[in-house]
Amino acid sequence: MVLFFYLKEFVIQGIISRSESKDYYVFSEKDHSLIRCSLKGKFKKDFNLKKDKLFNRDFASVGDLVLYDLNDDGTGVIYEILPRKNFLSRKAIKTRGASFRGERLEQIIASNIDNVFIVTSTLEPDFNNKTLDRFLVACESAHIKTNIIINKTDLAEELSVKAWAELYKKIGYRVFLTSALDSTGVNDLFKYLKGKKNLFWGQSGVGKSTLLNLFYPDLNLKVGEISNYTSKGTHTTVTSVMIFVGDETYIIDTPGVREIDPFGIRKEDLGHYFIEFENYMRECKFNTCTHHHEPGCKVINAVEKGDISEERYDSYLRILETVEKDMNF
Ligand code: GDP
Ligand code: ZN
Repeated sequence: MVLFFYLKEFVIQGIISRSESKDYYVFSEKDHSLIRCSLKGKFKKDFNLKKDKLFNRDFASVGDLVLYDLNDDGTGVIYEILPRKNFLSRKAIKTRGASFRGERLEQIIASNIDNVFIVTSTLEPDFNNKTLDRFLVACESAHIKTNIIINKTDLAEELSVKAWAELYKKIGYRVFLTSALDSTGVNDLFKYLKGKKNLFWGQSGVGKSTLLNLFYPDLNLKVGEISNYTSKGTHTTVTSVMIFVGDETYIIDTPGVREIDPFGIRKEDLGHYFIEFENYMRECKFNTCTHHHEPGCKVINAVEKGDISEERYDSYLRILETVEKDMNF
């Protein structure tokens, strides 16, 4: 028993905050300072087996709980990555010039997340429900609690925004209407962050950094920067970063994107990720129904009766066309 406690003293657990080439920066349990760690050699074997599917960064992801040893110089060595509670991913952007075997199929955004906030805006860029639905599908397929922020309410006619907010509320999402410019709705949102690991995700320019700076002025995130594109318009590899903001609260800031494709979804499963389809799907005549054309489809029936919104069903059909193109593994 004494020996057990003695050994436990030496187990140091941390959370990966970010990665940079081959290094991982890990929050120390003690004071949340960042320890620069490398991966222990034993991972190399596993990594080599998978390297046609994954890049190094995906092997351990931001948010992963890890066990590490400390070196005398203050750096660390990760020797174990604990099982993930969940992880969010997207289909990787095609890297120009990459060979097929080196091409990444799935890009992990982060793991062990309590809440995702998908940030959209009323205008600049225009609210795009199709884009929002793609983000929602990625989150639902990862089984993570998902919330919607519609920012820049100061720019839009109240009615047009409210209609979208009502639609998503009716489906079951928590929707926050905010303006980072005049702080509308910001306090209400802030309450939900405490004690949680919160990931903010969305298109570039919607105001994600401005909102986060309002919540946590010390973050000093750069506003108005198209940060993940260089001046030549080429994509650079900017990845997610987890930030500790006190009170057991973490923020995961993600690079702004133009569009995302959810990864690894089968046609017959897509309906589950449109959460309001669930009750109708059970009654479809065929249990392999893709709710596209099949006779006896209760989802199509619900759209015709106005119980499922046409906009959502239209999103569903568009995503249905594109999923499974990545199922080549
Ligand atoms: P991000 O790419 O999502 O991080 O967006 P930024 O936070 O960098 O904001 C993009 C631009 O939108 C900046 O010029 C911000 O000043 C502006 N912006 C952010 N929030 C609001 C808002 O609520 N209302 C208005 N009118 N502009 C905003
Ligand atoms: Zn159906």
